[in-house]
Amino acid sequence: MAVSKAVGIDLGTTYSSVAIMRPEGRPSTIINREGETLTPSVVLFAEDDQVLVGSTARRAAATMPADCAQFVKRHMGDPHWRFIDSRGREYRAEEVSALVLRRLAEDAELALGEPIRDVVITVPAYFDDARRKATLDAGEIAGLRVLRLINEPTAAAIAYGLDTLASGNVFVYDLGGGTFDVTVMRVRGGEFEVIATDGDRNLGGFDFDNALMRYVADQVIEQGGPDLHDVLVLEADLRDKCELAKRQLTTVDQASIFITAADQNFRIQVTRAQFEEMTRPLLDRTEVTATGVLDDAGLTWSDIDHVLLVGGSTRMRMVREMIQRISGKQPVTGINPDESVALGAAVVAEATAAEAAESTGAATALSRIAVRDVTSQSLGIIAVDKEVRQNTIVIPRNTRIPAKHERTYYTVEYDQRAVEVEVTEGDDEDLAYVTVLGSRPIPLTPGLPRNAPLKVTMSYDIDGVIHVELFDVTNRTPLGEFELDRPYNLDRAEVEKARTELATREVQ
Ligand code: ADP
Ligand code: MG
Repeated sequence: MAVSKAVGIDLGTTYSSVAIMRPEGRPSTIINREGETLTPSVVLFAEDDQVLVGSTARRAAATMPADCAQFVKRHMGDPHWRFIDSRGREYRAEEVSALVLRRLAEDAELALGEPIRDVVITVPAYFDDARRKATLDAGEIAGLRVLRLINEPTAAAIAYGLDTLASGNVFVYDLGGGTFDVTVMRVRGGEFEVIATDGDRNLGGFDFDNALMRYVADQVIEQGGPDLHDVLVLEADLRDKCELAKRQLTTVDQASIFITAADQNFRIQVTRAQFEEMTRPLLDRTEVTATGVLDDAGLTWSDIDHVLLVGGSTRMRMVREMIQRISGKQPVTGINPDESVALGAAVVAEATAAEAAESTGAATALSRIAVRDVTSQSLGIIAVDKEVRQNTIVIPRNTRIPAKHERTYYTVEYDQRAVEVEVTEGDDEDLAYVTVLGSRPIPLTPGLPRNAPLKVTMSYDIDGVIHVELFDVTNRTPLGEFELDRPYNLDRAEVEKARTELATREVQ
């Protein structure tokens, strides 16, 4: 039986990539129409409904910033976010991502000479259900069939063949263009279990570029030039040149940046030592997070069997040196750090497609790959303590899903007739830093004394549904229960509408 080709897609914050399993049994990334393995996740909405994706769009960002959507992955699952182009057209994060996905699929079709429909898309381990559902919707809007989503660190580990480990602990440090993620996973029998994950959603190569840009701009001012940050076009040019210089400093000790502004030419030299010095605080932040995640996992470096560096920014030497220093281990190498996620996704894509096609269900080695998730955010209830409303945690973050936890609360007055059960997401006690996911009034048994115990049982399943039950401990009676459907996502009709709309747009 013919097996349809399925590809793996790394839908990144700054760069995306698509890979396929080759007949020789190894995955490789597919070269896009511009001859690159990485496609910038940038979408330019030009006139005449034309859409440009990738390097061309990225270059145009300098002159048409108002029509360029970037870093959209940060907004996946946010129901309020919209990109509004200069003509006032609005796009949701799912729709912008769909355009990137369509472009990647079309490039794969061009390279392979056959239609692509089945894909596996990767997502950060911390993505909650709303963000995962948004990613699935983006795939569907792009006209693709998403066989499954897998966690980025899992994909990277599979690319390195670590799913074949009998058992072991894997530490993944992923520093990309716009985000930083750390994940500790346990591998057993080909199955990956996320033990702990955390990161910084606003830290990546982009911030290293910013530091260098500030330095170069200051040097230009010192040499009598204008402030490059004041003019959009000059700033965009500065960004391009600084990113290039940063990449150069990964291989050579010194780089020159040539700037033309206000009819003058400037040459700024930067050494690697200077660059490392100005970005030290950024690297330190990743070190703190990395150590914290290991703590959260309840492990020490001696428990870690493999350290993986993922993301383009881990090419920087200072990252490798820092990880070696704190872990005392040599990171696994051999695959480009910015391609490993797509390569692993390709392995899973083929295994999943083969599984779907084979009615016999004969298990391939890879069909056993399974991913267990943990909660990325704490779930809790708002309680009143000494008349102050505060957040209390019922299911702590990094709890394995499906989870079921209980916590006892007390009535605040005699014969209290009802409680408003408000479900929260977030770690902080302070309500200013948590999100209320939903609430429900639940009537109480009449005649309860003050301080009567009420037990709240909260469960969270793999589909991301939160189930809450309230139990009267005094009278041993259930008081009520409810489920929360998170209101973040598009419904079927909206996905279908977006899909037909985008299908008419020409993507270049
Ligand atoms: P994403 O954030 O989309 O997952 P990548 O993993 O591809 O993206 O990482 C992109 C980042 O990696 C960019 O900030 C880019 O400047 C940086 N990068 C790529 N190559 C190098 C290099 N040789 N030296 C330093 N940084 C690099
Ligand atoms: Mg990435």
